[in-house]
Amino acid sequence: MAYQTERIVEQSLNALYEDSGFLPDLQQDGRKRTFTSIAAILNTSNRINKSFLRIPLENGEIVRIPAFRVQHNDTLGPYKGGIRFHESVDEGEVVNLAALMTLKNALHEIPFGGGKGGVVINPRHFSEKELYMICKKYVQYFADILGPDKDIPAPDMGTGEREMDWMMAEYKSINPGKPYRGSFTGKSVGNGGSLGRREATGKGVYFTLRYMLTDFLTEHNKWLESNANRYTLTATQHSNRSLKLAVQGFGNVGSVAALEAYHCQHLQNKIVAVSDRNVTLYNPDGLNIPALIDYVARHQQDLPTTEAQLQQFELKADILDREAVLYADVDVLVLAALQDQIHQNNVDKVKAKIIVEGANAPVTGEADQIFHDNGVIVIPDILANAGGVIVSYLEWLQGRETQFYSLEEVYKQLQDKMRATLEALLPPFFGGTRSLRENCYIHAVMKLSKMLYRHGKLY
Ligand code: GLU
Repeated sequence: MAYQTERIVEQSLNALYEDSGFLPDLQQDGRKRTFTSIAAILNTSNRINKSFLRIPLENGEIVRIPAFRVQHNDTLGPYKGGIRFHESVDEGEVVNLAALMTLKNALHEIPFGGGKGGVVINPRHFSEKELYMICKKYVQYFADILGPDKDIPAPDMGTGEREMDWMMAEYKSINPGKPYRGSFTGKSVGNGGSLGRREATGKGVYFTLRYMLTDFLTEHNKWLESNANRYTLTATQHSNRSLKLAVQGFGNVGSVAALEAYHCQHLQNKIVAVSDRNVTLYNPDGLNIPALIDYVARHQQDLPTTEAQLQQFELKADILDREAVLYADVDVLVLAALQDQIHQNNVDKVKAKIIVEGANAPVTGEADQIFHDNGVIVIPDILANAGGVIVSYLEWLQGRETQFYSLEEVYKQLQDKMRATLEALLPPFFGGTRSLRENCYIHAVMKLSKMLYRHGKLY
């Protein structure tokens, strides 16, 4: 996985170094040293915890499964971030994803640090009983470093409510008499989870896109006019308000974002392509997203792959290979699958003028630069996909306060938080020359640096 966090942290610090209004008390001779120590802190994980889970399989075999919990930084609060079950997980990937969590939480002013977990398995290859054992062992192995005020995991790719319920139960039995509700988020509602947590990331992804294209640009026409050439799409779409979208990934994030786009009152959207690990479905007149969601719910989360399956459910679409979604002739491409999907070897084939990162790090650093040079807007992961951790924060509060948030309250808080971040970021983005990603990083690094300085952590 190409690692761009380090590079952009350096760039952000260079920008802040030039800004005399940032940490103004610093004397010129101390400034360099302080900035070097900020870079050293943000580019190094506090702790990399790894182990092998020894799991007895149902066939009698015992397997040793590599597992990680990386605690990147806790300046702003306890470590927070999901646990990923995927066969491509490795230490470097978990380290990168943990650093992204630190920046994501700082960007949206969520009082958490950044962490991430990973287990190297394809969950489809294990029985329910074996997965239960993997969750139990994960908590046993990392019991000392987890907890509501230390490190709070959540779902990520390959994990969900069921896994969080299992894990919290194990945490509770290891720590009798201690508070446990806030030890994991993304649990089922009956087990202390928050309403709307499952949909939160996908809803936030679409909200970010819509807010940027409608509310913000309506209010800030001057940004639009002054940048009409650079961002041609925003100019044209703003006037006729109809968008063509393609969505890569039809899981928890992609399917919800597609559904939000499908039902959106503000823009006349057509979702012309969606994909999963097997296929792309394409229909230039727009796909029936609710029917596809219904289909995947009944077919182990897979989209239809044959004409017969489409016909049986009265679905109209061409079946293309799974990469085709990336190159569809659309205005907006939502990337909600894996990392490193758009790279320097395929970036030229992408036709979309706005890319939304629903997944973490789906666009490599090189491709990101090429998009920016060509006037394509990339709405980066730490901005667009923070809905999950924002609602995780509400769930964590709920666990501490014995308070229960209604669905309405959850969505209101989710939107308020994302709107506040967008309001701070979009004026410098549309009014300046830096990419939206650079603006996000500068914002997040600035918040973290100020706090590191105030906490006396800098040399
Ligand atoms: N795994 C999600 C993310 O990457 C959610 C993390 C959380 O809720 O802590 O943002």
